[in-house]
Amino acid sequence: MPRKRRPAPSKASRLSDLFADVGPLASRKSGYAYRPQQLGFARAVEKTLNGRGVLLADAPTGTGKSAAYLAPAILEVASSGGRIVVSTATLALQAQLLSEDIPQMRAAAAELEGYPEEEGVSYAVLKGRSNFLCVRRHQDTLRAGTILDPDLISNLDLWAVETETGDREDLPFRVPVGPWVEVASDGEDCSPRLCTFRDGCFYYAHRDRAGEADLIVVNHSLLLANAVSGGAIFDTEGAHLIVDEAHRLEEIMAETFGARVSYGRVRYAMRQAKKRCESATAAADRAEMAADLFFGDLGSGASVLHESPPRSYGTLVDALVSVQSTLASDPREEVNALQGMVGRLRRDLVSFYSKPDEDYAYAVVLGRSRRGGGRSYPELKSWLVETAEVFRENVLPLFESGGVVLTSATLATGSGPGRSFSYVRRRLGLDDSSVSDRVDEFGGEEVFDYEGRCLVYVEEEIAAPTLGLPDLFAASCARRAEELVKLSRGRALVLLSTNRAIAAFRERFRPPYPVRYQGDDSPGRLIRWLKETEGAILVGTRTFWEGVDIPGSSVSLVVIDRVPFAPPDDPVAAKLREKAGERAFREVFLPKAQVAVRQGAGRLMRRASDRGVVALLDPRVATKGWGKAVLGSLPPAVRTGSLAEVARFFVEEPGEDG
Ligand code: SF4
Repeated sequence: MPRKRRPAPSKASRLSDLFADVGPLASRKSGYAYRPQQLGFARAVEKTLNGRGVLLADAPTGTGKSAAYLAPAILEVASSGGRIVVSTATLALQAQLLSEDIPQMRAAAAELEGYPEEEGVSYAVLKGRSNFLCVRRHQDTLRAGTILDPDLISNLDLWAVETETGDREDLPFRVPVGPWVEVASDGEDCSPRLCTFRDGCFYYAHRDRAGEADLIVVNHSLLLANAVSGGAIFDTEGAHLIVDEAHRLEEIMAETFGARVSYGRVRYAMRQAKKRCESATAAADRAEMAADLFFGDLGSGASVLHESPPRSYGTLVDALVSVQSTLASDPREEVNALQGMVGRLRRDLVSFYSKPDEDYAYAVVLGRSRRGGGRSYPELKSWLVETAEVFRENVLPLFESGGVVLTSATLATGSGPGRSFSYVRRRLGLDDSSVSDRVDEFGGEEVFDYEGRCLVYVEEEIAAPTLGLPDLFAASCARRAEELVKLSRGRALVLLSTNRAIAAFRERFRPPYPVRYQGDDSPGRLIRWLKETEGAILVGTRTFWEGVDIPGSSVSLVVIDRVPFAPPDDPVAAKLREKAGERAFREVFLPKAQVAVRQGAGRLMRRASDRGVVALLDPRVATKGWGKAVLGSLPPAVRTGSLAEVARFFVEEPGEDG
């Protein structure tokens, strides 16, 4: 609801007052400095929210984009009411928003507008239900004896009585994923209307609390799940939507709207059926046995998707039908509800062996390794390939009466004046005439002094990567990377495009500095090691192209082995190629690679005071027609092909305080 205020700054000047060098935000944020780029972005967001538009915003690293979108959003909701939904892809950004950015901006807005801070906008995180203990399932599990570890059972029992949140994050002891899914809330096994535990339900209490907040923070999966449910998870009426890390939206949509059918999923569903309905036991046992054969056969190569299923497919489908109809005919309504879980499983399974939907890609993929060393089966997996319609028809309509901001440091392809939003427009359906009038673009200017503090090395000498001789290229890269890290005195992040390249580096890369590889430890610990170890070098693949944020000199060199085009056997890439033919390269693969190169190179400069070299070891950028587009995605710094110049750059390095 609108706050009572003393006479506040005019609407036109309130953002400049908020972001002023000596202003309410500066007094709360340590190391704050006024940036015209940040204010420019905030103004573009304000215009979008007021005009109920859709803004595509590319805000380079250093812009301070969270504050730039939170400021106009919080001011708007504080003065006019309504609600803000902020969606992120990563937990790290959620944590930063909740612990720092939102409280600071809420307090700064209250000071600016002259109302007490405690009357400022309320905010909450809204998590998915699988994070919460389901009281009913916990009771059922105890009765069924599904969790076998007695210590775990008694710890969970005690915690279930004491916890106020039921949130997995608050568990004082470790519960492995397997037992947790047995007791966690599951939408396919929950009928709140019939549940006798509804009043003490942790998930619904959390949802109700978050439902009252003016500003809620969700992740992209929950945003999409809410869209699919037509807004049943959280209310979006009159709400504005801000999607940060929006470059991940397409990939998360592809996963969320696709299906995964695994041995584990069949077993889980059958266990729930047996737990709740004794008469389904025989059919559920049959389904489990058939699944064992089915997934065992899947890896043998004898079956073909959409044509010839593995031998036990028919038995498995029949058993699932039988379990489903037993559940449906049970007189207890809450048992009937479980048939949805089994029905969806059957439908997903059948989708891999019936006529394929042209908007999807399908594949048999390696299964996740099973805990306890059990046999790991291959799995069936599908992805939504055509994301445009889903975003336009399912997500946007929920925010029709508010503004929508999609932002990221790498939302566009290219950089500077050559930046283009065509790719994201196409993939999110925003070039369609039904919405294109609502869409605006904001390309923020670079904040960092790349000309003065960064050098881009582009390889000219080593042989280009070829499909036939991948190891030769990896060997040349390892040698060149060795020379480069000697010049930078370690302090390097080496980003490789394939696991095969990692293996080649392990064999050949022998720098005179400590080096560790992806897989040697958890990503978080490896990143900490890189930050804290003098002269350290971390070698990784895609996990590290985005997730490394280490300001300072610990990352003074970023080496990228090659332009990361999707491999030819990638199922989504293959489907896109099949659908778009020749156009697929220019319209999909090249823009994706440009964004990836921008992300990788973006690991170098995290603060204005950082300094270093980005090295791209793929000589094709100088010879191929697409090379210019990729070069345009590298930081706007001086470019060189000379190692001597790289050496000079590092020799000229000022001391830590310079
Ligand atoms: S309402 Fe649903 S999530 Fe809550 S306790 Fe009941 S079954 Fe579990």
